[in-house]
Amino acid sequence: MDFALSPKARDFSARLSAFLEAQVLPAEAAYFKSLGGGPGPWKVPPVIAELKAKARAEGLWNLFLHDPDYGAGLSNLDYAPLAELMGRSLIAPEVFNCNAPDTGNMEVLVKYGSEPQKAQWLGPLLDGAIRSAFCMTEPAVASSDATNMAATAEVRGDEVVLNGRKWWSSGVGHPDCAIAIFMGVTDPTAERHARHSMVLVPVGTPGMVIERNVPVFGNFDEPYGHGEVSFTDVRVPRENIIGGPGRGFEIAQGRLGPGRIHHCMRVIGAAERALELLCERALTRVAFGKPLALLGGNGDVIANARMAIEQARLLTLKAAWMMDTVGVKAAMSEISQIKVVAPNVAQAVIDQAIQIHGGAGLSDDFPLTAFFAYARILRIADGPDEVHRGLIAKLELRRHAARLGLPKG
Ligand SMILES: Cc1cc2nc3c(=O)[nH]c(=O)nc-3n(C[C@H](O)[C@H](O)[C@H](O)COP(=O)(O)OP(=O)(O)OC[C@H]3O[C@@H](n4cnc5c(N)ncnc54)[C@H](O)[C@@H]3O)c2cc1C
Repeated sequence: MDFALSPKARDFSARLSAFLEAQVLPAEAAYFKSLGGGPGPWKVPPVIAELKAKARAEGLWNLFLHDPDYGAGLSNLDYAPLAELMGRSLIAPEVFNCNAPDTGNMEVLVKYGSEPQKAQWLGPLLDGAIRSAFCMTEPAVASSDATNMAATAEVRGDEVVLNGRKWWSSGVGHPDCAIAIFMGVTDPTAERHARHSMVLVPVGTPGMVIERNVPVFGNFDEPYGHGEVSFTDVRVPRENIIGGPGRGFEIAQGRLGPGRIHHCMRVIGAAERALELLCERALTRVAFGKPLALLGGNGDVIANARMAIEQARLLTLKAAWMMDTVGVKAAMSEISQIKVVAPNVAQAVIDQAIQIHGGAGLSDDFPLTAFFAYARILRIADGPDEVHRGLIAKLELRRHAARLGLPKG
């Protein structure tokens, strides 16, 4: 068993880390200060464009894409430490053109997009010239079950007509968001997993209205936003269907495999930075005559955080390695395992970091509340914990049923 980074990952890691320390982390405070804080419309602080140009010039761009024709050509295992580094900063993923939901949307276009779709939308996304949104979740139905989606994407002649209401469409409030992927029912009589289509909708198409940006713990995640979006008789050409009618569920599932692992890696980076801040604070602040680190059970808190992060990282790396070697389908249990473990570990570590910071931990002077929100969101987004636990249990029981010669069930 070799725990060392590959030479390629080591090289990218060193360069990315240096860039983060020298360019991104020092820009964070001014970036957040320049945001307006309201519900939109928003502007992007100019420092992002400057940092993007520099990162691209240094080859730190589209690192998530495994296909060398489109991205850096790194395996999941090689990308893992890089995503973790990016997770240390809330602004870093966009700087390297590696932020959700654009990463997942680009992967969809690489895998299922037609040549004209790639030319029109993938090119500008790869350039970081536009941003995108993924409109699957609906307020009216339990959306952890993708087959529940009730919005419609009816094929009428040369057009597809979209109707329905989506929410939590992340990134749709970004001023550069130019394209959304919409999931809707095309054939209600088809088998449950073959009813939906994924359709490309240019933002601004008549009938598509961003009704509001939905706050998370009172924060709008400016300048990305999580939109509630209505679609009323929105008409786009039939060629905007991705991969053909009826493939929506398949694309939704395919999109989530790599996306989940990227989130897990980033949230481990957030946990690591939280522990770093926790230790800095615990070593430098004194109460009752001693540094906080030496008071009560705070040493145990630090040790427990270190152990939990290491376990989460190893499991994430194992899942990444399995995706590379045996494929996403065979790694389904491990992907679900890390999707539960990483956000829960991160949430607990970040919570402890907030605690050690006292009142400061709850202020915006540190990134801790934003990290906490990110970890908490991930316990619901891309499948709630319970759905993943259900899948892990199902696969485990299936294995034992087979061993015992029992029916699949
Ligand atoms: C900040 C944020 C950003 C998001 N970004 C996007 C985005 O860009 N695009 C998009 O389409 N969606 C996005 N989502 C939506 C997210 O993926 C959904 O919220 C999630 O899939 C759950 O769907 P739901 O909210 O309808 O919960 P429901 O399906 O109503 O589930 C509610 C709860 O029921 C329980 N539950 C559900 N299933 C089971 C089960 N099998 N076993 C036991 N308990 C169960 C769980 O406790 C679950 O949390 C985002 C969400 C958030 C909060």
